[in-house]
Amino acid sequence: MATSTPHPRADKDSVQAGPISLGIDIGGTKIEGVAIDGDEHLLACRRTPTRQGNQAVHDDTVTLIRHLLDQVGPNQGPITVGLGIPGRVDANRGMVDDAVNLGIRHMALGPAVAKTTGLPVRVENDVNVAALGAASQAGNTLTAPGTTPHSASARNQARRPASEPGRDGPRALPDQDNHVVAFINLGTGLAAGIIRGGRIEHGASGAIGEIGHISVDAHQFPCKCGQRGCLETVASGSAVEALWPGFAHPLPDLIARASQGNQRAQRVEDIIGHGIALAVQIVALTIDPAIIILGGGMSKTGQPLLDLVTEHLHRSAACSHFIASLNLPDRLRLATADLPIGAIGAALAGRMAADSRPFDFIGKEIAS
Ligand SMILES: [Zn+2]
Repeated sequence: MATSTPHPRADKDSVQAGPISLGIDIGGTKIEGVAIDGDEHLLACRRTPTRQGNQAVHDDTVTLIRHLLDQVGPNQGPITVGLGIPGRVDANRGMVDDAVNLGIRHMALGPAVAKTTGLPVRVENDVNVAALGAASQAGNTLTAPGTTPHSASARNQARRPASEPGRDGPRALPDQDNHVVAFINLGTGLAAGIIRGGRIEHGASGAIGEIGHISVDAHQFPCKCGQRGCLETVASGSAVEALWPGFAHPLPDLIARASQGNQRAQRVEDIIGHGIALAVQIVALTIDPAIIILGGGMSKTGQPLLDLVTEHLHRSAACSHFIASLNLPDRLRLATADLPIGAIGAALAGRMAADSRPFDFIGKEIAS
């Protein structure tokens, strides 16, 4: 049964004007839903424990949607739904394959939820919606690489239209590539989501950002994908659990013990820090994003994680002028910890699909 989880930034007294966007983030342990209005105010927030299997995931998603609509109250505007779910997602058809942790082999999730609720539904991979949600929160600090991320002049430079002359003299004209945000999901596994110009990049087959299965690591630990030495085996929650077992919160414990001089902890911390820094470097050198956000369960470690990754990026930069020139530590951010970014991103994905790509938007024909 869904449980109400009032959010500190949810404003029950808001008057809903215009469209309502519902976003549902379907995870392995919980399903989290939000409702946002056209100004991106968080109107409602609710979660329920995850149950396994196609029918249970459908039923719990629909129940959550109905609870959110009850919380929002009467509304005259259009309502859209975005869903984020693990596994291989065909976003254009709303199909999900191999969402293993949810007990789903194959499911027409988008069409099924659209048919039951009568609402248009967009389905995206969970890392992609988390990337979109995190990028939307990072928008205020979006800058071009090489500038000082938090300076007012850098923000103004990034926001100033290309046609407007800079007050501080001649400058390079920015292009859309300044608006690329990469989100590295340090969860049980490792994957990245890419947001370009405010939109999710899907690639040709949906495998974009699956950097966890690039086989690069010298330790050659076996990976569940069948390869050895995958980045995921040294840069993920499961990697930390395997290399530093027996703790409820292994990464904070590992970092704390390493700082106290525990040599085994220092060796493991080195492997993990190097692995995550390598993930950052791979994303930077292939996508060249303005901002790289570290998210997922491991990011809840907070500043000690950022310090660890930054230290390893500085090590690479120390022996390479090229790597140093990329200013990677300046581009790094931690995902906002106090917002349900996956659900917010799902809501944004649903709204954006409805606004500009009606033929990609599952459920319009079914719902009408
Ligand atoms: Zn692998």
